[in-house]
Amino acid sequence: MRAARADVDLDAIADNVRALAAAVAPAGVCAVVKADGYGHGAIAVAQEALRSGATWLAVALVEEGAVLRKAGITAPILLLSEPRPDDVGAAIHWDLRLTVYTREGIEAAADAAAQEERTARLHLKVNTGMNRVGARPADVVALAQAVVAQPGVELEGVWTHLATADEPGNPFADEQLDRFDAVVAALVEAGIDVPLRHAANSAGALDHLRSRFDLVRCGIAVYGIPPSPELAGSAAALGLRPALSLRAEVAYVKTVDAGEGISYGQRHTFAEPRVVATVPIGYADGVPRQLAAAGGEVLVGGERRPIVGVVTMDQLMVDCGAPGAAAVEPGDEVVLLGRQGADEITAGEWAERLGTIAYEIVCGIGPRVPRHYG
Ligand SMILES: *Cc1c(COP(=O)(O)O)cnc(C)c1O
Repeated sequence: MRAARADVDLDAIADNVRALAAAVAPAGVCAVVKADGYGHGAIAVAQEALRSGATWLAVALVEEGAVLRKAGITAPILLLSEPRPDDVGAAIHWDLRLTVYTREGIEAAADAAAQEERTARLHLKVNTGMNRVGARPADVVALAQAVVAQPGVELEGVWTHLATADEPGNPFADEQLDRFDAVVAALVEAGIDVPLRHAANSAGALDHLRSRFDLVRCGIAVYGIPPSPELAGSAAALGLRPALSLRAEVAYVKTVDAGEGISYGQRHTFAEPRVVATVPIGYADGVPRQLAAAGGEVLVGGERRPIVGVVTMDQLMVDCGAPGAAAVEPGDEVVLLGRQGADEITAGEWAERLGTIAYEIVCGIGPRVPRHYG
């Protein structure tokens, strides 16, 4: 219906997961599908990832896990933060693996497990320096003992999260991994057997071999996007390729006279007459309003063309060249992200222009944009 769409290439997801699985073996791949699969569609990505060698999934919210279970997915699903006490019952009901890092969280899990009459499998999260959530390293053995002592709960994993793995040469990832190694050693010393240890995000999996342990939690790499520009080479070496493209059709074409401005605020003025194409996609769809001012371009007619004027809620305008020289018509394909001919615009390119990361770009593609799977 809409003349704007996001195409998700499930073969790319499959190839990316296969490449990651081969690279990190014997560690397993946990495909991170929070935030609706980074904007790609959680169910479709999860199913494809599991078909292609991922053995685990991870989500941020209980609701996200429930969506996957309702779709019939039976693979282990890790919840990446400790649920609020009120949400623990639902998390166990949907058979999610719970991350915990407080005594209250462990007790709530045990209570809810008893009520649901099933065993809750817990992963103890250690804060080794990210300082977002997680137990202090010095508290981990006591918390692990608390899990072991509780009926109805089982300690399945211990894990941490790296803050700088996407910055090659930053020594902090090794510092965090040293702290994590010490925690793992302390658990062994205390005679507590934890089957799964995990620490790597995509950047860790790609660039820090020692972070792979038993499982790598890969999000962005599954979608074929390098975690940072510095890791583009590592991602390319594995053959990772972006799964998502964002396209629209030219809706309207006109010539704008010299001296005219364009869009809200009239921030851009034409020195010469120009052919301008209007494209029916805007910031409500996840094309940032400031993309034009940041030098953003699209591919149309096999050429790179600049977005002109601020992006509006539902539409944006593209300078297609001088009258006579420009051949553009309503219905022509406009590529915002992806390939056209020999050229490609990546989420990383937008991110660099906008001073953010590619994650924010793909997660920002709104629910109004229909996803098509192929
Ligand atoms: C989102 C997230 C990941 C995945 O990170 P990527 O950089 O996308 O691979 C892994 N672990 C945790 C705890 C996360 O929150």
